[in-house]
Amino acid sequence: TVPDRIRNFCIIAHIDHGKSTLADRMLQLTEVVDARQMRAQYLDRMDIERERGITIKSQAVRMPWVVREGDLTGEQFVLNMIDTPGHVDFTYEVSRSLAACEGAVLLVDAAQGIEAQTLANLYLALENDMTIIPVLNKIDLPAAQPEKYAEELAHLIGCDPDDCLRVSGKTGAGVSHLLDEIVRQLPTPQPGNDGAARAMIFDSVYDVYRGVVTYVRVVDGRLGARDRIKMMSTGAVHELLEIGVISPEPIKSDGLGAGEVGYLITGVKDVRQSRVGDTVTINARPATEALGGYKDPKPMVYSGLYPIDGSDYPLLRDALDKLKLNDAALVYEPETSLALGFGFRCGFLGLLHLEIIQERLEREFNLDLISTAPNVVYRVITTDGTEVAVTNPSEFPDGKTGEIFEPTVRATVLTPNDFVGAVMELCQGRRGVLLGMDYLSADRVELRYTLPLGEIIYDFFDQLKSRTKGYASLDYEPSGEQASDLVKVDILLHGEPVDAFSSIVHKDKAYNYGVTIAGKLQKLIPRQQFEVPIQAAIGSRIIARETIRAIRKDVLAKCYGGDISRKRKLLEKQKEGKKRMKMVGRVEVPQEAFIAALSTS
Ligand code: GDP
Ligand code: MG
Repeated sequence: TVPDRIRNFCIIAHIDHGKSTLADRMLQLTEVVDARQMRAQYLDRMDIERERGITIKSQAVRMPWVVREGDLTGEQFVLNMIDTPGHVDFTYEVSRSLAACEGAVLLVDAAQGIEAQTLANLYLALENDMTIIPVLNKIDLPAAQPEKYAEELAHLIGCDPDDCLRVSGKTGAGVSHLLDEIVRQLPTPQPGNDGAARAMIFDSVYDVYRGVVTYVRVVDGRLGARDRIKMMSTGAVHELLEIGVISPEPIKSDGLGAGEVGYLITGVKDVRQSRVGDTVTINARPATEALGGYKDPKPMVYSGLYPIDGSDYPLLRDALDKLKLNDAALVYEPETSLALGFGFRCGFLGLLHLEIIQERLEREFNLDLISTAPNVVYRVITTDGTEVAVTNPSEFPDGKTGEIFEPTVRATVLTPNDFVGAVMELCQGRRGVLLGMDYLSADRVELRYTLPLGEIIYDFFDQLKSRTKGYASLDYEPSGEQASDLVKVDILLHGEPVDAFSSIVHKDKAYNYGVTIAGKLQKLIPRQQFEVPIQAAIGSRIIARETIRAIRKDVLAKCYGGDISRKRKLLEKQKEGKKRMKMVGRVEVPQEAFIAALSTS
């Protein structure tokens, strides 16, 4: 297809504003998927995505479209719809998907208005110089207020309220008009000056049968089916086994030209060999310069993952090896914990990424896991001048720390007017620095903060929701690092440090952390035949203390507060006579007590 017949677009939206549903209608209208094959959220292929209603991996679909109204009526175009992952952890993937398109449909729920993710994605789209088509969705809802939110949208992107299209992904109203407008408003792909082939990888997915499937947008030149290709970041050369387009199933072709979007299969077995953001060129006539914007995925959050049943350790290792094939951002290495036994220290892009991996391990590999409290990566300059990246509190160079840097994020919070005070209080309590505040309309406010990542990976989102009756929304992106006054708090049981509870916290919060954990363990650990002190300490300085009295008594019954199913699971394990005791010095502690302390914290 010649470039001026191609339009590449993505849909950006806050979660639940109807992106997948609208995509479904487009697939139907363009007859790429017929009504019989149609199931809701056709593009969300992974089970977890379908259940949680979120899109994790992006996909690209080619849709033929014959314009139905106006000046171009009857003319045939090719629309490539690139589905972007919807969550903050995947900002980089989102930015690459956007970079593969000329334009974006900015979809806003007409009953909700603009939300934090709408803004964050819009900012990314604007950074990529994309054409934005503002669209209000769900106009079939009785609660829809298209007039009000058209004003809001128009104000935000600087257009006329009448330019905001109105659709319903549910009924299909307005969708054909939207497809026409995509053809009309979006620029045609412009090949660059360099004639040599260059294609940008915006996604790469491991498939059990076919190996890695790489999704690309060809920017310059042409990739032919017989070419040997070269990855420009590593110089690795691969045979092309297959090239084609997805519509909605893969269709082989003899090549992809400038402006086109499609897939490559090279027989590589690991997505790390085919990285998002990298540039593909032809080995025989390589481009001299890669396309801009490539970044190595960098884990932002670390956590220890341990099998509840220690004999599952080899299974966990195999499962991680498998998941890694499909996840260039997942890193892990073996780790042992006094409290939890053998496990892995794993690095993730963020909390959702952690949750997804843990859930996949439990679901697809049938593992029962416990994860330690997540922590961010600290950069510590020691007093002798060396630099250490601390991914585990136990590696913190106690007593030898000079400057300590922690990662920060730029957060966007959107809230109704009434809750501005509550949101500010929360952000200040988390060491946030207010960057700016804007009224989107008379009653809705955008707050921008710099916050330490370590302060929001925990329960920030839950707190935000509960303090704003669920109305506020949050999005954030990495924004560098800052020097901070951080300390490591250790928890000692009868004088022995318990590694899984060591944590790096701000100096002003150390006391609180110590008191909370010591209190929790005091309730969870059964009494021994002797008195057991539980202490929280910074280096050798004790900052909190609890005591387990010396009476022998089984307190398992009151051990586990919150999670009924976990509690039942643990009790069943015990019935099987598998109760595992850990010795911490002289103290006998059921592993379950550690697990309960970690999982309810
Ligand atoms: P996504 O998170 O942006 O992909 O949103 P989904 O497409 O999964 O939709 C979220 C929810 O909104 C689902 O329950 C949909 O059925 C519903 N929904 C989506 N579009 C419409 C619409 O146009 N009208 C109505 N009434 N509901 C819609
Ligand atoms: Mg979706």
